Amino acid sequence: KIQVPEILKKISVAFKSAGFSVYLVGGAVRDHFLGKEHDDLDIATDATPDQVARLFKRIIPTGIEHGTVTIIVGDRHIECTTFRTEEGYTDGRRPDKIEFAPTIEEDLSRRDFTMNAIAAALPEGIITDPFNGIQDIRHGIIRTVGDAKERFSEDGLRPMRAVRFAAQLGFSIERKTLDAIGPALQVTAQVAIERIRDEFIKIALAPKPSIGLRCMEETGLLRLIFPELQNCRGIEQKGLHEFDVLDHIYFACDSAPPAIELRLAALFHDIGKPAVRAIGPGGEWTFHNHETESARIAENILKRLKFPVKLTQQTTHLIRQHMFNYQSEWTDAAVRRFIVRVGEESIQDLFSLRRADTAAITGTPAHALKHTMLDEFDDRIQKIQKEKHAFALKDLSVNGGDLVSLGIGPGPVTGKILNELLETVLDDPELNEKQRLLEIARLIYQKKFNQE
Ligand code: ATP
Ligand code: MG
Repeated sequence: KIQVPEILKKISVAFKSAGFSVYLVGGAVRDHFLGKEHDDLDIATDATPDQVARLFKRIIPTGIEHGTVTIIVGDRHIECTTFRTEEGYTDGRRPDKIEFAPTIEEDLSRRDFTMNAIAAALPEGIITDPFNGIQDIRHGIIRTVGDAKERFSEDGLRPMRAVRFAAQLGFSIERKTLDAIGPALQVTAQVAIERIRDEFIKIALAPKPSIGLRCMEETGLLRLIFPELQNCRGIEQKGLHEFDVLDHIYFACDSAPPAIELRLAALFHDIGKPAVRAIGPGGEWTFHNHETESARIAENILKRLKFPVKLTQQTTHLIRQHMFNYQSEWTDAAVRRFIVRVGEESIQDLFSLRRADTAAITGTPAHALKHTMLDEFDDRIQKIQKEKHAFALKDLSVNGGDLVSLGIGPGPVTGKILNELLETVLDDPELNEKQRLLEIARLIYQKKFNQE
């Protein structure tokens, strides 16, 4: 028996008084046994979607043909799905047809893993656990409901979900379940890429993404979805590096803070290394300008997985910039130019990426890194940023309109001159004053654009 949230007790009254049964199912029940909060509540019932729709005032017909209605109570959304069985998968994507089922047991038998196939009868919270999911949760085991080969051939997303749960929960995948992934790869290849991507995002954001990534590699999912990453296996680097490129990447992912652009940047930051590897003058491996090649490959992959354009740009920008090298002899102007090149909003992310990268050279945890060039540079940047000089066109004390009143532009020339003014101010912040900049603008205009 489990503790039932008040909101579900209220809802279940409506079902019960109309003669229907209703259960809490899915992630919320699993996470209860893990002692974790779970935000979205999924319930299952023998009432048909039409009947559910008639019981409540505020509903969304989320997927009537799949048997799902969303019930709205206050600001909470509760997904209600009619008991069903699934049959007839022809393309590994979605069931061709669904059939409603009379009992909760049948409904639980179509679910993916034993830990996700536990129901709590409402309102009391009495547990139905026909596949020993509670025991598997206690032992930290991911196991399909029924025959693994069959379940994976029905829905090619399930192998990705298995790996995702392994990474999120730190569970291990039971032998037969793990062994059934390889033979199901052709089915996984048919699944809509957005669904794969959404599971992969959860792997990337897990406490230790490497658990999921190693599991993907072992089962062939990595070669299927990210062949470019698989190519990094066995690429030795030597020098300071203790690992081949792929193990280095795994360590970097684990060391990066759990934000999606950082985890993706860590995942792809060295992916161009196999393509640019060459033997240097002293017989050592060199990876000249690998950051450019890595950013290019990362962009292809992120487009292929239909990641949002903005996220793709942020990620490839971090990759492209990650090899910066700071010397304490740099002038303030050089540091300001660096800030402008990276963009103020990206600086801290770039340092996080570089710290993860540095830590992963030897497998040291990022927080244990000794005082390094990075800390020194970070301090210097923060000090310079506090001086509140201009780092972007918007920070200049003149704008396009001011130039127009001088008789310059409007047109492309305005932008060109504003950029030159920013360069000037980066060299000498004292010049960021309206009258002085207008004077300089006039001089640039006369000299460069040959105008009176
Ligand atoms: P989380 O919400 O933390 O991602 P979850 O287990 O709630 O985990 P959902 O995708 O919300 O995952 O799915 C809810 C439930 O639906 C699952 O617990 C499982 O019982 C069932 N389910 C989801 N996807 C599948 C699938 N591909 N095959 C079979 N059952 C599934
Ligand atoms: Mg859920």
